[in-house]
Amino acid sequence: QGDPRLKAISEAIRVVPHFPKQGIMFQDITTLLLDHKAFKDTVDIFVDRYRDMGISVVAGVEARGFMFGPSIALAIGAKFVPLRKPKKLPGEVISEAYVLEYGTDRLEMHVGAVQPGERALVIDDLIATGGTLCAAIKLLERVGAEVVECACVIGLPEAKGQCRLNGKPLYILVEPR
Ligand code: AMP
Repeated sequence: QGDPRLKAISEAIRVVPHFPKQGIMFQDITTLLLDHKAFKDTVDIFVDRYRDMGISVVAGVEARGFMFGPSIALAIGAKFVPLRKPKKLPGEVISEAYVLEYGTDRLEMHVGAVQPGERALVIDDLIATGGTLCAAIKLLERVGAEVVECACVIGLPEAKGQCRLNGKPLYILVEPR
């Protein structure tokens, strides 16, 4: 995209082959968090994009969406809503199942956290098949929110189709090295 900050962001992400299992090239954003400039640039790029889009809620996907979402939310004047793995939230929840490579998982959101008509940004560290983000979109739409966009730091090439995102726009900063 020609933004000189993206190269340093990409290089700050560590690639760990065969984690957590054989054949997976794990994109480790903890090394990005250690690099103050690259971390700040990452948040700043999202903030510049979303500050004037009338977004009232940033919804972060557990766990690595929690590492970027709150900073973005504070900077754009939105609230932050955690979308959590099963049985973590103490209040009443709504829940969406999604398919993983092996088996299924679920995301949950507190009832009452998001009101009908709110404009939402969904954030996670990485999109692969899009199944996780799709479940996040469904949770927000079930309570009447409008998902303006989904944002990830990293997009695997297979995310290009993004056909599973229900037509919602996807914004990614970098592809894996
Ligand atoms: P998906 O639902 O297929 O788009 O998978 C995205 C979710 O799985 C995100 O929450 C990622 O954090 C995680 N994930 C999938 N593949 C990788 C990978 N190669 N490296 C790091 N995280 C991954």
